[in-house]
Amino acid sequence: MRYERSSQLFKAAQKVIPGGVNSAVRAFTGVGGEPFFVERAKGAYLYDEDGNKYIDYISSWGPMILGHARQEVVDAIKERADKGSSYGIPTELETRIAELAVSMVESIDKIRFVNSGTEACMSAVRLARGYTGKDGIIKFKGNYHGHSDAFLIQAGSGASTLGTPNSPGVTQGTAKDTFAADYNDLNSVTQIVQQNKGEIACIIVEPVAGNMGCVPPKPEFIKGLRKLCDQHDILLVFDEVMTGFRLAKGGAQELLGVHPDITCFGKVVGGGLPVGAFGARKEIMSCLSPEGPVYQAGTLSGNPIAMAAGYTTLKILNEDDGIYERLEKKTQYLKDACDNVLNQYDIPYQINQIGSMMSVHFCENEVVDFDTATKGNNAHFPKVFHALMDQGIYLPPSPFESYFLNDALTYEDFDKTAIALDKALSSLG
Ligand SMILES: *Cc1c(COP(=O)(O)O)cnc(C)c1O
Repeated sequence: MRYERSSQLFKAAQKVIPGGVNSAVRAFTGVGGEPFFVERAKGAYLYDEDGNKYIDYISSWGPMILGHARQEVVDAIKERADKGSSYGIPTELETRIAELAVSMVESIDKIRFVNSGTEACMSAVRLARGYTGKDGIIKFKGNYHGHSDAFLIQAGSGASTLGTPNSPGVTQGTAKDTFAADYNDLNSVTQIVQQNKGEIACIIVEPVAGNMGCVPPKPEFIKGLRKLCDQHDILLVFDEVMTGFRLAKGGAQELLGVHPDITCFGKVVGGGLPVGAFGARKEIMSCLSPEGPVYQAGTLSGNPIAMAAGYTTLKILNEDDGIYERLEKKTQYLKDACDNVLNQYDIPYQINQIGSMMSVHFCENEVVDFDTATKGNNAHFPKVFHALMDQGIYLPPSPFESYFLNDALTYEDFDKTAIALDKALSSLG
């Protein structure tokens, strides 16, 4: 395929934007080469500036669960834009989307909207600290909760790909309140809790991890976290920025049958516009300003155009009773198709999949945490990635990212993908 125009655009971008991108993960650091520049997207497909078409397995890193430029969402955005784009004063739409979200996710009574997943997680931790009066937080190696300082300790994907798990600019003072445990290893968490009795405000976790590839939790791990939190007056925070409204109407917590104290949202909740949110039961949310003392605010929070996109997306997800089953069936079909191709070759691999999230790891071992995921960060992934991209199949450009399927993808797309994968692998020799 030709990438001439993308290449020119990337050069121009690099002159005025660090690395030419506005989010580190877009720069292809994990796979080499240059990103293509998107001209437009529709349904399951991306079209770049050179006129190439791609089957899109990222869905904007999750938000576009209904496919790109879904007509109802486009109409809602246009209709709202005509009425002005920001007022800095409440609108009815904010209450409507809050009612809908609260009705879909069982563990939350109230929800506050912000502008990104980063903001949601940052605010959730502040709320947990304010509510409990404690400072410490526990996170898991390879889990990602956005780029706020407290979380850039053993973060996943972007940070892992770049090889800077602890970013310069994060102070020792901040780092000392964040403890990192091993995902799927309850003992590693229990140890930290026991060594820091009375100090831990919350445990924040991706209930299904998606930032070291897709890594589902062991049931005893996630149930064990709930029990540990109850025993030690620690709040359990589920970061459902990826999984919320994606794995089920009620998110991963519905699928896993474990209720957190606070839930963070992002990605799908904005239907492709910049939205994040966090919710909890009433007594916790009451600590938030202006009801309570924990400060939180935002000039563009609850922005009417963003709320219109999010509300329309959630409404479609809530009313379409078949959508999650359909997405899961499609993803399983893709998984089986990839499995059938991969097992004809001499390359070790693992496929992790749950709901509409999946990832292929080129390693022998089962991938259950950050260390095992790291084994798949080898020469195979970039080669397969580029061989597929050249055939119009776009996977996440890092071995530490999950694929996010969207509802516009067809079985024909999966069959094409399997054929392309076969070609890609045979070209590796
Ligand atoms: C994407 C992501 C975030 C950060 O969300 P942004 O909108 O990129 O700030 C936080 N947590 C998880 C689990 C994510 O996948």
